[in-house]
Amino acid sequence: MINGLVYLDNNATTACYQAVVESMMPYWSQVFGNTESIHQAGRKASGVVEQCREDIAATVRTRPHQIFFTSGATEGNNFIFSSYARTPAVRKRVAVSAIEHKSVLKAAEALAPLGFDVVKLPVNTDGIVDVDKARMLIDDSIGLVSVQLANNETGVLQPVSDLVELAHEHGAYFHCDAVQALGKMTIDLQELGVDSASFSAHKIHGPKGVGFIYIASGSMKFPFVFAYKGGGQEHGLRPGTVNVPGIVGMATAMRMLPSDAKIHEMSELLRRFELGLVASGLPCVFHGDRAERLPNTSNFALCGIPADMLIANLPTLCISTGSACNSQEVAPSDVLKAMGVSDDEALSSIRVSLSTQTTEEEIDYAIMEISRATSRLKELLS
Ligand code: PMP
Repeated sequence: MINGLVYLDNNATTACYQAVVESMMPYWSQVFGNTESIHQAGRKASGVVEQCREDIAATVRTRPHQIFFTSGATEGNNFIFSSYARTPAVRKRVAVSAIEHKSVLKAAEALAPLGFDVVKLPVNTDGIVDVDKARMLIDDSIGLVSVQLANNETGVLQPVSDLVELAHEHGAYFHCDAVQALGKMTIDLQELGVDSASFSAHKIHGPKGVGFIYIASGSMKFPFVFAYKGGGQEHGLRPGTVNVPGIVGMATAMRMLPSDAKIHEMSELLRRFELGLVASGLPCVFHGDRAERLPNTSNFALCGIPADMLIANLPTLCISTGSACNSQEVAPSDVLKAMGVSDDEALSSIRVSLSTQTTEEEIDYAIMEISRATSRLKELLS
């Protein structure tokens, strides 16, 4: 428990590891030079950043010249679409899966007024992009395909290697939002074969506001016009003064990515959670549970109980709705809708996402609290 709360919303963000916080400390006021400065303070800062780049590259099985630091995955995803749109003579059609994060969906949709067509690749009822249907939709008119490695709401893994092959057969570029997969499965970018992938530190117990984008070709052979203009940082691909403390914190978190054994432990806890909910007699319908999923994510409907009401009745639990909320309205999740889930069921869906810090006690507490609140609400609503 942290501050009396059980935090099971790790797909939204994670707590920084203490070692991450400590590793960043010297880089605010001691080693604070600008990486572009040629004096000693600048050289020290740039040396540290290059070491981080090397360590991060090794963690995702790639090379340092293919790693570019960003402010996070929203920027990484937007960079690809904006760069593509700025490039003369590219194909005027792009394809994204129907269940992408908003930072991909909206970045793709922003291309429509510029004369681009956005093709949505459908998913099946398990929440997996349908490769056969993608085969019918991806042809030589498509120049850019973007599909995530794992879904942020359901945790369902996507057939990225198959889709890369398909895109490449048609001469299209393949971008992958790999944010949710990092730290929950081994990622080998060379093997995956994607042309680019975006990542974010705050999902892996690193700091917020920092991430990286992998570009297979490196900056020199990047096929599109760089979206941003400015100084020469990150080879001009992502200009702007380099966030040294953030990068140091992210590299620490990357060096601390969980072992296979730790990931297995997390999946056992997830199993304990799901079995516990069922055993307590709750009317749960799990989304995507027949598919290969991240070891930390469970998304389920408690039919007849509005998820926002349930969460309001769980003051010591941090979990999220399976719906897209803003302060004014609650709408059924586009991801669940794309899987064929009804609006009512989507509006009673909850996402629980664990971290390597989650304990058995927290899981048992969450089951007990969800079960109590559900019974209370059932009585109230009947
Ligand atoms: N993609 C996915 C799948 C995500 O879950 C998130 C974070 N919610 C993002 C992109 C955006 O990442 P960031 O917060 O670093 O902008």
